[in-house]
Amino acid sequence: MGTRQVDVVIVGGGPAGFAAAAPIAAAGFSTLVVEEHRRVGLPIQCSGLVTSRVLEMVPSGSELIHHEVEGVLVHDPRGRCLHVDGRRPRAYVIDRAGLDQCCQQSAIAAGATVEEGVRATAVERTQRGVRLHLSASKGTTRTIDASLVIGADGVQSNVARWMGLRRPRDLAAAVEWRGAGLQIDPRFVAVFIGTTVAPGFFGWAIPHGQGHGAIGVGSCTSDTPALELLRRLTAQEGGYAGPMTTTFSRQQELCGVIPLDLVAKPYGDNVMTVGDAAGQTKPLSGGGIYTGLVCGRICGQTAVGALGAHDLSADRLKRYAQAVDAGVGKELRAAYRLRKVFRQLNDQQLSDLLETLDDRGLLQMVIAHGDIDFPGNLAARMLRAAPALARFTRPFLRAVLRPTTTLAPA
Ligand SMILES: Cc1cc2nc3c(=O)[nH]c(=O)nc-3n(C[C@H](O)[C@H](O)[C@H](O)COP(=O)(O)OP(=O)(O)OC[C@H]3O[C@@H](n4cnc5c(N)ncnc54)[C@H](O)[C@@H]3O)c2cc1C
Repeated sequence: MGTRQVDVVIVGGGPAGFAAAAPIAAAGFSTLVVEEHRRVGLPIQCSGLVTSRVLEMVPSGSELIHHEVEGVLVHDPRGRCLHVDGRRPRAYVIDRAGLDQCCQQSAIAAGATVEEGVRATAVERTQRGVRLHLSASKGTTRTIDASLVIGADGVQSNVARWMGLRRPRDLAAAVEWRGAGLQIDPRFVAVFIGTTVAPGFFGWAIPHGQGHGAIGVGSCTSDTPALELLRRLTAQEGGYAGPMTTTFSRQQELCGVIPLDLVAKPYGDNVMTVGDAAGQTKPLSGGGIYTGLVCGRICGQTAVGALGAHDLSADRLKRYAQAVDAGVGKELRAAYRLRKVFRQLNDQQLSDLLETLDDRGLLQMVIAHGDIDFPGNLAARMLRAAPALARFTRPFLRAVLRPTTTLAPA
């Protein structure tokens, strides 16, 4: 079979890939998205907790909502629990597979072609761009030429590897159990922090409504597998979340890897990476749907300009990274600095931190300004209001008050 030619091939049919595909196809450039799984969105590797911003970015987003969450209970290693009641819906548990399929439909409506069950197995450079080697689930192989390849192929991006781009290095391994009988207030997400509970990250319990829910752990150490940490967290004897799981019956286990560090140069000649492949996730929570959608759009818009100018050089495509940096990238970098400080705190310091935060004025500030998409704003405000917080570490103060931090007007 001869080699077909398209303008752009996007490897990976997740939110970031489809968000990039839509503007390119809408501008009239031939756009092919290949997704290795037979059905976009499946299997699910995500808790599906998002803010209303995500719902507003996809057509009929509100139809994806399974459950609304109003606040968070933060459990520390010494048994303290910080209760943050947002008093209105702050986050939503959504149908994650449905979200990916909505994004797919938007890309198709814009004119993109989506092929499911097709895996990219290699990319090589050609005189006019790139040649991708594709393998279909039935075992057939073919090649396709493109002016531009976009790696939206997740945290372990092969496109980045093949094209010589850096991949995220700071990773959290995560595992989650879903099932019935989780004993949790349906209005609150629970978070478990502690150096032995979830080294470098945190554990979580998320109500799904009607007695269903999920409990999971992320970890940044290879010393103890995340699955073992989850077993310990839920152990009936001594497990931090043991009381929540006495009647829990597990129906599903999902796992994955979460990138936490933004890749500074997600582009090269004829290539860009986007979403998890470029580390475009929130370093404090690991959430990457919102940031993947935002950066996907920027990536797609950059591609449109570059294709129109017949210039797909790294020098032209760097506008993508510049636009990301000027927008959501500022927040991601500030949050990454905060994350590094949190990682240095021992269990006593984490407990002291929660005690300091357990203050009426500070909690009101959290309720008024807390935003899981933009935590940097809140951290800076709180430090101004409560300088006592700075005692935890000087770097903490520097991390949130650096001039590059996004600060909303007071
Ligand atoms: C356990 C867990 C819980 C999470 N919970 C949340 C949460 O609650 N909220 C939130 O916002 N984020 C969450 N995240 C993060 C979120 O899932 C990701 O940030 C998001 O999916 C990134 O989207 P993406 O499009 O970049 O990549 P993905 O969604 O990973 O999509 C990449 C796609 O590329 C495909 N692919 C890879 N290689 C190839 C190839 N060679 N050929 C063809 N296709 C290929 C893959 O099959 C995949 O479908 C969680 C992650 C994990 C692991």
